[in-house]
Amino acid sequence: MSDLIRKTAVELSELMASGEASAVEITQAHLDRIGAVDGAVHAFLHVDTEGALAQAAAVDQKRAAGEKLGPLAGVPLALKDVLTQDGVPTTAGSKMLEGWKPPYDATVVQRLKAAGVVILGKTNMDEFAMGSSTENSAYGTTHNPWDLNRIPGGSGGGSSAALAAYEAPLAIGTDTGGSIRQPGAFTGTVGVKPTYGGTSRYGLIALASSLDTPGPCARTTLDAALLHEVIAGHDPMDSTSINQPVPAVVDAARRADVAGLRIGVVKELGGEGYQPGVEARFHEAVELLTKLGAEVVEVSCPHFEYALPAYYLILPSEASSNLAKFDAMRYGLRVGDDGENSAEKVMNLTREAGFGAEVKRRIMLGTHALSSGYYDAYYGQAQKVRTLIARDFTKAYEQVDVLVSPATPTTAFAIGDRVNDPIAMYKNDLCTIPSNLAGNAAASFPCGLADEDGLPVGFHVMAPVMRDDLLYQVGGALEAALAEQWGGVLMSKAPELEVSR
Ligand code: GLN
Repeated sequence: MSDLIRKTAVELSELMASGEASAVEITQAHLDRIGAVDGAVHAFLHVDTEGALAQAAAVDQKRAAGEKLGPLAGVPLALKDVLTQDGVPTTAGSKMLEGWKPPYDATVVQRLKAAGVVILGKTNMDEFAMGSSTENSAYGTTHNPWDLNRIPGGSGGGSSAALAAYEAPLAIGTDTGGSIRQPGAFTGTVGVKPTYGGTSRYGLIALASSLDTPGPCARTTLDAALLHEVIAGHDPMDSTSINQPVPAVVDAARRADVAGLRIGVVKELGGEGYQPGVEARFHEAVELLTKLGAEVVEVSCPHFEYALPAYYLILPSEASSNLAKFDAMRYGLRVGDDGENSAEKVMNLTREAGFGAEVKRRIMLGTHALSSGYYDAYYGQAQKVRTLIARDFTKAYEQVDVLVSPATPTTAFAIGDRVNDPIAMYKNDLCTIPSNLAGNAAASFPCGLADEDGLPVGFHVMAPVMRDDLLYQVGGALEAALAEQWGGVLMSKAPELEVSR
């Protein structure tokens, strides 16, 4: 197997600049890797072999012609199947969209293409991004490359698993309640949720519009920062896009300095229900940052304990409204259209057949929470709680620059373990959801392996709105210090995957 697949995006870029490898060679190496391991991992729903090779050849041509190229030109990437790519199948993990080929590129995709990033294909996810394990995908579960019997996290498990299986050095995810950070934590990779509005939602199949945030996934902090810079920035096509300069994330990842930085450990995100090995690695990382000169204090965010219930009212409410457009008329699936059935009947039959159990559960929850007579008690109340959580952050940031916690209460669990227990599944998102509700920037960085099971643990950093740079500063410092201990990034400790050809 080519050693090109082990390289970071930065290293690949250097190889291309020096003429030691072409974009086509690099792309082919990753396509070969996908061919060899994806049967076992199932990170991809669609591999665009021809399109990827054509994009790579175009980059090689531009380079040969002496054109100035960006730092990620020719670097392959795995794209979560919730973002539209012109002419390429996009399902959002749902039967509802089987066979649908969008007629346009999402803004994120437009920017990737403009930067010469090579899109290898579309990655698996929980249906419409509802889930924490990819087990809600209509197209089968993705397996965690660290242990194929475990889930890779969700909803963007395919993107993170593609990184951990060395099928791609870069990936795009979307984070509504942790779907970039939690799979990042479970696969020993870096996952960043930018500030809400810092990356465009145009062309992102909506789950909850006030929370949805596309973001970068990579095996190193600097790679994630480079990708962040490519995709972020104002977009007039998204009405909630922030019209401000992109925070200097690449500089911050390079600086990787925490001396004098004030770090707050969130008191409420730890203790009962948290796996001892997760807490141990988290506290060691905090110690390490202290040694590097950070000032660490404990901070209380008393309303965080209500984040999960508030989220599970707000998200289903918005989702039930966003998913109303899947009415058998406009996109994808249509069932029972026999010339006899009424439009309403066709709509009902299609939604019955096209949506999975979790999606139906949330549509029902959301419809109920929004119904007249209950609206104030459920949706209205949840919005008030959301404000209290945002205030907790504002108060905390008067004291400290960033907040930290474990990214998840446990490491990756076994496939099948929590499918019949939605509450246990939802509890995965205890640490990640507050930042979504407040629109903050947040990220997960690998911080070691839990003693109990040898599986990756994620270190969660939360920063104020449009201070995404602080995430990379902390992540970069942690990564550098841990690399000294480990002799490389955490991923270098992952077991070899069995290669099928
Ligand atoms: N686990 C969360 C949920 O099921 C993740 C959602 C997301 O970020 N897309 O809602």
